[in-house]
Amino acid sequence: MNPIVSNIKTIDESRQGEAFYMPESEHIDSPYVKRFYIESYGCQMNFSDSEIVASILADCQYKPTRQIENANLILLNTCSIREKAEETIRKRLRTIDKIKISKPGTLVGILGCMAERLKQSLLDEEKLVDLVVGPDAYRDIPRLLNQVVDGDKGINVLLSREETYADISPVRLESNGITAFISIMRGCDNMCSFCVVPFTRGRERSRDPFTIVSEAAHLFAKGFREVTLLGQNVDSYKWEHPENKETYTFARLLELVSLVHSDLRVRFSTSHPKDMTDDVLHTMARHENICNYIHLPVQSGSSRILSLMNRTYDREWYKNRIEAIRQIVPDCAVSSDIIAGFCTETDEDHKETISMMAWADYCMSYMYSYSERPGTLAARKYADDIDEDTKQKRLSEIIALQRKLSAEHNARDVGKTFKVLIEGNSKKSAHEFKGRNSQNKVVVFSKTEGLKPGDYVHIYIESANSATLKGYIVNN
Ligand code: SAM
Ligand code: SF4
Repeated sequence: MNPIVSNIKTIDESRQGEAFYMPESEHIDSPYVKRFYIESYGCQMNFSDSEIVASILADCQYKPTRQIENANLILLNTCSIREKAEETIRKRLRTIDKIKISKPGTLVGILGCMAERLKQSLLDEEKLVDLVVGPDAYRDIPRLLNQVVDGDKGINVLLSREETYADISPVRLESNGITAFISIMRGCDNMCSFCVVPFTRGRERSRDPFTIVSEAAHLFAKGFREVTLLGQNVDSYKWEHPENKETYTFARLLELVSLVHSDLRVRFSTSHPKDMTDDVLHTMARHENICNYIHLPVQSGSSRILSLMNRTYDREWYKNRIEAIRQIVPDCAVSSDIIAGFCTETDEDHKETISMMAWADYCMSYMYSYSERPGTLAARKYADDIDEDTKQKRLSEIIALQRKLSAEHNARDVGKTFKVLIEGNSKKSAHEFKGRNSQNKVVVFSKTEGLKPGDYVHIYIESANSATLKGYIVNN
């Protein structure tokens, strides 16, 4: 079990398996239209990749559908980060098998990290799967589809050192029209010992900053008011101009995107404690539209465990980074990822994680129990020696503390006024809007005449629980 608390960042449990679609395409009623159905799992990068896949499929006349039984092509964009994520996909395939048997000719494809990790064996084990495509091979989907239509299986799991899909304009599926994600880099060059990402997503490469800025400007022109720049380690973004050899760092990119328009909010994820520079923090402090929120995963509070995890920072270094945030961006909220029960973790190590959480005062965390992944450094070097009960007990303590911290964090916001970007109706009532403040907290308030999603409002906070702030509009 790998639960989370509160709103999204890297893995939003409520979105796992979400099917993307575009409402307008559902009404095209022609036997010649081919339809694809795509479900996305895992981190935001996968959801973003599904939009690239949709764009590639649009070029070969496939339209998205939300009705799986109407689809000619069913795609699952998968995650391998923990064993449970892969089990979820295997279970989902059992339902899809039934659809395929009742409607022969339906094609089934596995995309993303699980495709990359399992390669040909996925085709051998899952007989009804026709297509296996890794994260760097999406441009090859049209060719593979032709191959599959002719009765063969299609597989491309080649990783690339260059592919950034920089020239592909993602089709925004299932969009609220206000917030969007922009991939700024792919892959990861870190070798955290627990993590499968470097094996499934390949070497780190940064996307041309001019294509990023132009995507942000294009989104703003279409009415979007917030972009989140995505990468496994945004702080190591680095792009060199091929002609004048000028270097673009993440701080520079962040500034360029923030200058697209002062009404375009900019967020980013994920920051790595070893690489997060003061330069980035000063850039945040200079621009009101760069949100005061940093996702800075600690993973463990124990320097000994951090060293085994190969995170290349220790407890003191991490604390120094939090202190720099507090000094340079005083209003900044910080969230984290935490792993309970990593190899050899003692009660003392666990207590250090607990004390780090309280000291860092996270507004939110994604909390996991350690899941050994085949092929990773940890799987090869260390025994997965913490029994499941202990892992779950420690995880429960971590979750309970985070709940308390989130509730206290939000309680401190009561009586404050925040600038909120309206994203749409609240989950509970059509009479209420929901939006987020700069610190990424969800704010719910009653609607008033004339306001619409995409507008900014100032909200006075009257009450709070661990997940949401509630308030009312004060004069803008
Ligand atoms: N690049 C990000 C970073 O370095 O913080 C994280 C990317 S990973 C997709 C998201 C989170 O999954 C990690 O921060 C870690 O907490 C968790 N995770 C990764 N591998 C795991 C494993 N084998 N077992 C449990 N949790 C894991
Ligand atoms: Fe995995 Fe570490 Fe890379 Fe994050 S930085 S994706 S945890 S290897």
